[in-house]
Amino acid sequence: MVITPLAGLLAKYDQPGPRYTSYPTAPAWSHEFGDADHRASLRRAAGSPGQGMAMYVHLPFCRSMCFYCGCSVIVTQDLRKSDRYVDDVLREATLARAVLDAPRPVVQHHWGGGTPTFLAPEQLERLFLGLSLLFPVAEGAEISIEVDPRVTTRAHLEALRRCGFNRISMGVQDFDAEVQHAIHREQSFAQTRDLVDAARSLGFGSINLDLVYGLPHQIPESFRNSIDLVLAMQPDRLACYGYAHVPWLKKHQRVIDEAWLPKSAAKLELYLTALDAFREAGYVAIGMDHFALPGDGLAKAADGGSLHRNFMGYTTQAAADMLSFGITSISETSGAFAQNTKTLHDYRARLDANELPVERGLRRNADDEARRRIILDLMCRFRLVYAEHGGAEAFRQRYAAAIDALSPMREDGLIAIEDDGIAVTPTGRLFVRNIAMPFDAYLEGQRSSRSQVFSRTV
Ligand code: SF4
Repeated sequence: MVITPLAGLLAKYDQPGPRYTSYPTAPAWSHEFGDADHRASLRRAAGSPGQGMAMYVHLPFCRSMCFYCGCSVIVTQDLRKSDRYVDDVLREATLARAVLDAPRPVVQHHWGGGTPTFLAPEQLERLFLGLSLLFPVAEGAEISIEVDPRVTTRAHLEALRRCGFNRISMGVQDFDAEVQHAIHREQSFAQTRDLVDAARSLGFGSINLDLVYGLPHQIPESFRNSIDLVLAMQPDRLACYGYAHVPWLKKHQRVIDEAWLPKSAAKLELYLTALDAFREAGYVAIGMDHFALPGDGLAKAADGGSLHRNFMGYTTQAAADMLSFGITSISETSGAFAQNTKTLHDYRARLDANELPVERGLRRNADDEARRRIILDLMCRFRLVYAEHGGAEAFRQRYAAAIDALSPMREDGLIAIEDDGIAVTPTGRLFVRNIAMPFDAYLEGQRSSRSQVFSRTV
């Protein structure tokens, strides 16, 4: 393998670290935070009528278990379970709506999982209609969904378009037969291409495809073939995530023999293979994992400084509050995070008791808010202007330790320290998680558990 300067940087900065879809990150949240705290933050949010908000719905069902999966899923074939779950989510939304009082237009609406299209088309429509009666969707809203090409039919896509879904994201991971067999996810190119074509013909505006590197038996040559097949479908956006092998947390990953996994240098080469291929094909790096064609809204938002980051990943606009429903889902309202219970049993028991099914959360304090704004600026605008953070002198004093920790990154060309602020360079965008980490006040206290709770930055 030829070690390029970029490969050297990737090796140097590869360490466990947060993805910063929230700050403070979930390991810092408290189990003391419950229903009453979440209601209080919803009531505070009720004071901003007319202001747009985001909504997320978690649909946890899958027909089979992919062995690499890192999500909380429920494997079943029984559509009666998802029918009952639709009722549960609508019960939860009704409880939240009663507290929120004034309707707020939903400007971003996202469904993830699990496999949202495990639900039958009529279940998808019933859920969307029920939610939009409680929380009206704004004209021109971004309405997106994650789908699994193995179970998604044209009838699903037609139902989604009738609801108004306009963006779609599909998992591919790798098309190689040996890799697919090892991860228990057999999905043909034809199946995926037909779904992409159907989505385009039905008018989905932005199509994202996901790849995963570091899977068992992956080698650069076969991965490059998979990437070329993905690029042939001309997605508007691409995500390429590193596989996190954590069998002590995700028991099903024990089926994957560690001897089958590419070691760190080989894993790095897989990532570089993807990076080269995306660049050659004209995609722009949005952050470590995300890429978009220059005309796509995400790339335009990154250029125009309006990119935002929340639990949905990178988004094109910031909504002040995000309301989420379903097991494990996370709401962010009035400066507080609230995460729902992880099991269906607990979720239902809490709803039966007319409680919002919150398991843990955190209300941000002033220091959290200041650091969150810094991290968001670095992750989304790739630039931090001292004047927007209390002025140059105060900033340098308050964050002296963080600025010191950034020195090696400046020497490596990942950032430029300028008179009026800090700029992330184009190469630095690939390491933006590392650049944000020195501003995280909780990370030091999480040092011993970091490798257990965070994925690696490369
Ligand atoms: S379909 Fe997605 S969520 Fe379901 S098991 Fe596979 S990777 Fe996990």
